[in-house]
Formats: sequence, structure tokens, C-alpha cells
Amino acid sequence: MTAFVTTTFLRFKNAERLLAELLTHFAEHATVIRTDSGARLHTSYGTVDIARQQEGLSVGVSSRSAGALAMIKVFIAEHVFQFAHEPVAMVWSGDGADERRLPNFQRLRVLAASSVTPRMRRITFQCEDAAPFVGESHYHARLLIPPQGRAPIWPSLAASGRIIWPEGKDALTSRVYSIRSVEPARNILTMDIVVHGQGGSPGACFAKDAREDAIVGVLGPGGGGRPDAGNLLLLGDETALPTIARMLENLPSTSSADVFIEVEDEGEEQMLVSNARVRINWLHRHGVEPGRSARLEQILREQAAREAEAGRFVWAGCERGQAERLRNILGERSSMRRSSHHIMGFWTRQKAAYEPVEPAQPTSH
Ligand SMILES: Cc1cc2nc3c(=O)[nH]c(=O)nc-3n(C[C@H](O)[C@H](O)[C@H](O)COP(=O)(O)OP(=O)(O)OC[C@H]3O[C@@H](n4cnc5c(N)ncnc54)[C@H](O)[C@@H]3O)c2cc1C
Repeated sequence: MTAFVTTTFLRFKNAERLLAELLTHFAEHATVIRTDSGARLHTSYGTVDIARQQEGLSVGVSSRSAGALAMIKVFIAEHVFQFAHEPVAMVWSGDGADERRLPNFQRLRVLAASSVTPRMRRITFQCEDAAPFVGESHYHARLLIPPQGRAPIWPSLAASGRIIWPEGKDALTSRVYSIRSVEPARNILTMDIVVHGQGGSPGACFAKDAREDAIVGVLGPGGGGRPDAGNLLLLGDETALPTIARMLENLPSTSSADVFIEVEDEGEEQMLVSNARVRINWLHRHGVEPGRSARLEQILREQAAREAEAGRFVWAGCERGQAERLRNILGERSSMRRSSHHIMGFWTRQKAAYEPVEPAQPTSH
């Protein structure tokens, strides 16, 4: 297989400190194998060799595709600038050195917008190439909403590998959503977007008002996908509902899943389809502010207490504070510690104070 390669040299006085900080951080994203002079990083996009030289750091990247190579360049460049705390001259040579288009960027055209439930809008987009969005590894993407009434200016790549974002009046609004479904044959993507609040939230407003032929951008896919496990406990609020629905649709028939989804009321429930053995439980907030119900925590405590459930993979997506509390519950339970889990904060409630309220009872189907 052809390898795509690129190299750069970072002239930097305190290279030892920069290298140490980069490698500590990279361990969260990649497998880091230390060498005498630096390290080799193994990522899903390719390998990176970083070595300490007399006046800085040399970086070499090798990848199986031009797109993956560019993704690693962005990854390295953004982290170098974050950890260097000062400008670093950085120019790549080799494959893709002159490429200025972001590798995972596409223009999306709105084909249709409709209401799935009173608070959930489904937006159907025509994309340039749906192929990268197929599969179970990466379910999420960053929607880039241009300012109203202005021709969109899209982000591009600098020679350093950093992303150049449009600024001022051309600044884009960026929000993360899940890809609810993909039609590769017709290059169609759909997103289900919660319409929350009284207006003023750009993502919710876009979903509410989206018109046919409106143009937005997308960066992705990224983030996690369906856990590779046969027995799942899935928890989430309505923002996680698109992800959970897609997971269930793609679960093999040999799998099983217990699902708890918190929504405002019965009107927000959706028909969920799966070949697996699935038990769906809807939890209704009935006027309790999103992110303030303690119901998901209560469910997880109950489930975690069942010793027989110790082998299940726990996945959750909800408000950030709630997600933190769910992680703490898993940390407390020795039975659940043995199983794997992935708990994601999907949004942040503006008010910091958390006061638990009496949760509503679930209904089962
Ligand atoms: C990996 C990932 C996947 C996601 N997938 C989806 C998805 O498929 N569908 C979806 O709708 N959302 C999804 N989200 C959540 C979404 O990105 C956030 O809700 C985002 O904040 C919405 O942007 P906004 O402009 O509407 O509100 P913002 O301007 O970001 O928020 C303004 C205020 O509104 C409140 N707020 C934000 N979101 C909500 C909410 N959902 N309910 C109640 N109050 C809220 C908060 O108090 C916030 O401070 C996902 C997030 C992540 C990280």
C-alpha cells in the first residue's frame, strides 16, 4: 500500500519541555511508544515519529491516504501551538504540502427539514461524499453555520497545518451533532436536532428555521461510535437519542441492550427499531429543566447494584454535569468497575448550581 509521508522541523528553544508536554497529552489520543530521542505515535490515521534534535523537534508522519495524512498534520499543528505558548515557525514538506482544503470538510445543502416530535427537528442534507460517514466508529460531526445574509467563508489549512478560521463578521457558529443516518448511494446525511430554549441558541435556531437549499459546512466524522460489545446499557437525554437510535438500528441480532432515555414527555418518544433484544424505557421530565433531573443517575445506581449486570458496557450521553455524576457512580461501584464504559457530556447547562429534583417514573415498552 502506498504510504503518504510528510515532515517538519520545529525550531524551539525549550524543546525538551515541549516534547514532554506533547507526549503526555498525546497519550490520551494515541498509543505512544517512547524512544531514546522522543517517541513513535500510533493513531487510527497513521504513525508519527517525533525526535529531539539539537535546536528543536523533528516530526515525520506516515499515513495510508492523503486525507488521513492531513488530519494528522492538523492534529500535530494544533497541539504544538497549544503547548508551545508562543509562535512556532512550522512548514511541512512532502505529500500534501500545498493542500489548503481541510481534509474532513464538506459543504452541506439542506434538502428538507421536518419535525420528528414537537422538540426534535430532522434536517436532511445533500453532502459531497457520504462515504466517510458510513460505519460504526465515528457517529458525530461539527456543523458550521455561516452568519445570516453573508456568503460563507469556510475554514482552510495554513502551511503550518493549522486551521484558519474566518473571523469577525464572517465567523462561523460551530456545534457538534450526531449523524442520525447516512445514505451513501445518494450522498445524503440526516441530523436530528433538539429545539430547546426560547431562541438565541444558534444550533436550535438553525434547526427550527432551516430552509431548503440553505448551505452549511460540516467537519467530520469524529468522536465515538457504537461500542463493540454484545450487552449494552444505554442512557441518555434527547441530545443522545439520535446516537442511541442509530446504535440500536445497527446492533446485530445476537446483542442485547437496556435503554433509558430521558425526554420532556410522551410526545417526545420515538419509534426505535432494532434486530437485537432491546428493552426501551422512556423517562419523562414533565417540566423539570433539562439537565436537572436525577433520574439517569438513579437508574445507573439501580443497574450498577445488580451484580449480574457487571459485564455490560455502559454508554451514556447527556448534560455535562450529569455525565460527571454518572462517571462518579461507576467509579464507586466495584462491580461496574470491571466492565467498560463511555460517558459523554453532550451539552453544558448554563446554571452551575445543581439541585437534584424528584425524578419521574419510567414507562416501559
Ligand atoms: C458528541 C456530541 C453529539 C451530539 N449530538 C447531538 C444531536 O444529535 N442532537 C442534538 O440536538 N444535540 C446534540 N449534541 C448537543 C449539542 O451540541 C448541544 O446541545 C449544543 O449546545 C446545542 O447548541 P445550541 O446553539 O442550540 O445551544 P448553545 O448556544 O450551545 O447553548 C445555549 C444554552 O442552552 C442550553 N442548552 C444547550 N443545549 C441544550 C439542550 N439540548 N437542552 C436544553 N438546554 C440546552 C444550555 O444552558 C446552554 O448554555 C451533541 C453534542 C456532542 C458533544
